[in-house]
Amino acid sequence: MKHAFENIVVGGGHAGVEAALVSARMDINTLLITMEKTAIARMSCNPAIGGLAKGHLVAEIDALGGEMAKVIDITGIQFKMLNRSKGRAVWSPRAQADKNQYSLEIQKRVMNQDNLSVIEDIATKIVVENSRIVAVETINHGSIPCKTAIITAGTFLNGLIHIGMDQFSGGRLDEKSAVGLTESLNKIGIKSGRLKTGTPPRIKADTIDYTKVLPQYGDKDPIPFSFQTERFSPKNIPCYITHTTKTTHEILYRGLDRSPLYSGKIRGVGPRYCPSIEDKIVRFGDRNSHQIFLEPEWENANQVYVNGFSTSLPLDIQLRGLRSIPGLENAEIIKPGYAIEYDYFPSYQLKRTLETKLIGGLFLAGQVNGTSGYEEAAALGLVAGINAALNIREEKPFFLDRSEAYIGVLIDDLITKSPNEPYRMFTSSAEYRLLLRFDNADMRLSHKGHLLGLINDHYFKTANTKRATIKAAINFLESTTVCPADINPILQNQNESTIHSGVLLQKILCRPGFHISALLSFFPADLLSRIRQYKGLDDQIEIDVKYKGYIHRQIKQIDRFKRQESLRIPGSLDYSNIKSITKEAREKLHKFRPETIGQASRIPGVSPSDITSLMILLKR
Ligand SMILES: Cc1cc2nc3c(=O)[nH]c(=O)nc-3n(C[C@H](O)[C@H](O)[C@H](O)COP(=O)(O)OP(=O)(O)OC[C@H]3O[C@@H](n4cnc5c(N)ncnc54)[C@H](O)[C@@H]3O)c2cc1C
Repeated sequence: MKHAFENIVVGGGHAGVEAALVSARMDINTLLITMEKTAIARMSCNPAIGGLAKGHLVAEIDALGGEMAKVIDITGIQFKMLNRSKGRAVWSPRAQADKNQYSLEIQKRVMNQDNLSVIEDIATKIVVENSRIVAVETINHGSIPCKTAIITAGTFLNGLIHIGMDQFSGGRLDEKSAVGLTESLNKIGIKSGRLKTGTPPRIKADTIDYTKVLPQYGDKDPIPFSFQTERFSPKNIPCYITHTTKTTHEILYRGLDRSPLYSGKIRGVGPRYCPSIEDKIVRFGDRNSHQIFLEPEWENANQVYVNGFSTSLPLDIQLRGLRSIPGLENAEIIKPGYAIEYDYFPSYQLKRTLETKLIGGLFLAGQVNGTSGYEEAAALGLVAGINAALNIREEKPFFLDRSEAYIGVLIDDLITKSPNEPYRMFTSSAEYRLLLRFDNADMRLSHKGHLLGLINDHYFKTANTKRATIKAAINFLESTTVCPADINPILQNQNESTIHSGVLLQKILCRPGFHISALLSFFPADLLSRIRQYKGLDDQIEIDVKYKGYIHRQIKQIDRFKRQESLRIPGSLDYSNIKSITKEAREKLHKFRPETIGQASRIPGVSPSDITSLMILLKR
């Protein structure tokens, strides 16, 4: 069969664009099939990138050669480091986006990418021969042969939108749903389920009374997401805070009889951590108020996103509810809030490369894997795109484990736990989070991106230089003794107890609350200028010195973890004959078909004694 296109990506959302760009950059002739070119990389919901743990994902996508970080750095309108009051491991950047510019900038990169073609169409069927994908069928372009395909259809598969008692088909408001693809995948044996998500109303900015809401600015000295961003002086456009009132809750309560969520019309499971406002007032009935953030959707926008007010209640209730909120007494709605139900494919059906276990060359990425969020989608798209390219080139697959990246945690959670509610990334999901920081993503991963040909030599070298500088600085701190006459004035200045004999600089730095900036004058000039070359590098040196003990402990744990990860389980293993493990473990292992002992040990229902039995059997 002649392949004009080797890899087909279905869907130009956040997963699809990363998948398509990376595959094309790996010299694979790639076709992106998407419903609407102007909707490429559209933000369906909040106009923001990053946030807790999501910011880590964005930095990792960047270190591996993805686009999200670079594009938000040039289209963001407010940047903020979240969690500053907590430990450094969980600091996470977030940016308000100009969502129009974001999507336009991505479109520009997609359209200008060599090896990448884009058509507007709807994929309706996957064609399979001998358990391998051979073509994707579309409505207008017929059957298009391929060697691999990545489905990134987001919330569009049999999408059903709910506003009050009204329900209608759609992939997002004012966009068609995609029919046929789920049924086609079901026919070839891939199981699907139903999930739900929701979005708040958008209101007119000039109907807000700004005297009653509190402005919220970003950081004065913000840090970019991408380690490749060299010039960074973004805008700092405020959001505004207000809150619901007792009256709001009474209004919403009275509308519950017309809520699709509470009348049983919505069957799909929604995101527990991101409840609708009606969910909040029912679940947290004792609270008289919930915080609301008013976020501009782009620069000088007259359209404002009402963050915290996601709802599928009828429009009249939405409006009355909004108007009971301080500052929104005269609010006018531009677009109503709504809920959407859509098909997804439970993720136990995937390998860690995101290829389906059932059909060779067929990959799934993004919201269709049961995740929620732009960042999760982009991370999955990137990994699927890389692996589709490697699959075509018949090269070793690419994957990240839990000790290497949040992306590794995300994929491992998906394939070993197969969540049946929308999955989102949390810092608490990453057990090695002290090592997997936002600030060191480039040093952790850019060598992998470079090996894949996705990070150029210049930025690869930058990451290496940073690593070497940190090492040199730590050596200096650990080997340089400071005498009382030199350090005591600094200590006194910081209300710290003074010293009476020489002490290593490292010991001084380890004092709680003591910052490395006070010690920089002790560094030799050349080392200091290397440190100052990279913003935030002094902080990284401080973290590595202060948390050395914890970091070493995590490195030891990782050694143990890696040993289990390297024990492979043959794909052909017949679990039904293994009598030494429990019935539940047999069923779970048969369903999930883990690739390694490590993965098997994380499947709920598989106990440590099942794992011991399995290891004995594999040794034999
Ligand atoms: C109403 C709503 C509320 C949301 N709320 C939140 C939230 O609160 N928090 C959060 O983190 N995330 C939320 N999301 C999810 C967020 O939008 C997604 O996680 C993210 O956009 C998923 O990216 P994706 O690339 O998987 O899919 P999408 O961004 O949905 O993109 C899918 C793309 O595929 C195209 N497509 C689909 N089917 C076909 C086909 N058969 N043929 C050709 N093209 C096709 C579509 O046109 C679209 O361009 C919400 C989404 C919606 C719709």
